[in-house]
Amino acid sequence: MYVRHSSRSFRYFIYQTTTKPLNCSTKCLREISSLSQTQPFLFSSIIRASTEKGSPQKALLDYKTILLSGLLQPNLRTLASVLESCKISLNLEMAIETHARIIKSGYELHPSLSSPLIAVYLAYDRLMDAHRMFDEMPEWGFDVISANLLIAGYLKIGDFENANRVFNKMPNRDVVSWNSIIGGCVRNARPKEAISLFRRMLNLGFEPDGFTFSSVFSACARVGALNHGEWAHGLMIEKEIELNFILSSALIDMYSKCGRIKTAMEVFDVARRDDVSIWNSMITGLAIHGLGSDVIAIFSRMNGENITPDSVTFVGVLTACSHCGLVEMGRHYFNLMKSDYSIEPQLEHYGAMVDLLGRSGLLEEAHRMIRAMPIEPDIVIWRSLLSACRTYGRPDLGEVVIERMTQCGSGDYVLLSNIYSSANRWDCAERVRELMKRRGVQKNRGLSWVETGGAIHEFKAGDRSHMESDAIYRVLDGLMVRIKAEGFVPLTGLVLMDVSEEEKEGNLNSHSEKLALAFAVLRTGPRSEIRVSKNLRTCCDCHCWMKMVSRMLCRVIIVRDRIRFHRFENGLCSCTDYW
Ligand code: ZN
Ligand code: ZN
Repeated sequence: MYVRHSSRSFRYFIYQTTTKPLNCSTKCLREISSLSQTQPFLFSSIIRASTEKGSPQKALLDYKTILLSGLLQPNLRTLASVLESCKISLNLEMAIETHARIIKSGYELHPSLSSPLIAVYLAYDRLMDAHRMFDEMPEWGFDVISANLLIAGYLKIGDFENANRVFNKMPNRDVVSWNSIIGGCVRNARPKEAISLFRRMLNLGFEPDGFTFSSVFSACARVGALNHGEWAHGLMIEKEIELNFILSSALIDMYSKCGRIKTAMEVFDVARRDDVSIWNSMITGLAIHGLGSDVIAIFSRMNGENITPDSVTFVGVLTACSHCGLVEMGRHYFNLMKSDYSIEPQLEHYGAMVDLLGRSGLLEEAHRMIRAMPIEPDIVIWRSLLSACRTYGRPDLGEVVIERMTQCGSGDYVLLSNIYSSANRWDCAERVRELMKRRGVQKNRGLSWVETGGAIHEFKAGDRSHMESDAIYRVLDGLMVRIKAEGFVPLTGLVLMDVSEEEKEGNLNSHSEKLALAFAVLRTGPRSEIRVSKNLRTCCDCHCWMKMVSRMLCRVIIVRDRIRFHRFENGLCSCTDYW
């Protein structure tokens, strides 16, 4: 985190820096000395020319020669060029010396120098120094470019808080500032904020560009905000922003993650498909919808359109095979990737294969594959095998897996505990819970989003903070009474066997997706479709509950969880309970 140091001490430190003389050829010095008597302004031109021609070292050498000659004091333009050369030639020592000279010459607060100085410090990842420079900028000399650079610097290291602080402090901004902060929100899992910043940007009269829209589409995809996504798409057309492959991919991703796979296909069909990323978005979209045969059809089309699949394409294809239980197909593409395209399998490919084998009950083969991997398996791979151990009731293998997992999250302990519970080994299950408590494992909190009335509503598991919380819980209770009458048995009897990744939430009936659904029931007309997005995997209890509720309310309910889509209709789910 950025700690504000006394800027005075920083300035003093820089001020103390002495300019060390540098050996340079006397010939060069003589030439420049003779030149100076006739054309002093040529100095800055010489240095600028060297910098621009890509000879920063020569520029710095010339600069030192000038200083040594003692004939001339560098002016603003010279110093700016010198800083530029320092940045390109990665000469931090010289940059600090130049900063000292800038302070001594009284140019310090000049925007044409503070911006390159910030750029130099950022080039060395000296964010604190850059931030100090930014803090010292007077309002009259405020420089948007420097602030944007600083925001980008913070976002590069994932420090959203400080990026946001700089953004909020800016007296004026440009579209680059907005794009950085909106993109930053998306990358830092703050999709709701990204969408509201976009609205604020429009209200303040800024013109969004292609970059803005691609971030907004990603944000909408993340929370499944179809209405917002469609509105933004309409706005993009209205503003006549041309579709490029980044925008097309973002649109395909948005529509498929918002449950509109047909619209995603329409975008795909009319888009220019000369970049593999568009194909990858389409394949990934179809995969999360469990449309394995469509994925294979698209993959075959790539050949006809002269597009070479890349590593990401195969992740999508293998994921689709995994979601559809296509074991043979999966093996085929896994081998094809190596033999025909010379792509060495990465963690994601192994992950998809282990998942496919594990889900299909081939636990030994999955375990063998992990052991034979030439790269170190990550936690995701072990976790999918652990999950298969639960599905197929294999506490013996589960124990082996958990031993190999170096960093376990709450979900892993819950899974192991569930494996024990399902094998009726309650004592072991209880031991895992105690271990979790002792180790202070943080719970992974479930979050769900639902879009109604033009706003996105977020629900946490067990949430009671919502303004309409009382009404939401009344709806939930009412639904429970009705589906119980139809034979629904909640999994609460298996308290130890809390089957969710969310850990025991006190009450299964307050899982975040149920809260989001109840809220949508309150706010939307009868029989309309309800779409909920969730950050974790949905649990068995919620899955069964959603099926029953879809039949009782005669509604289509779409739940997108971390893994895939579930489309509940008339008591059935599109995943055919395979997820
Ligand atoms: Zn649940
Ligand atoms: Zn399902």
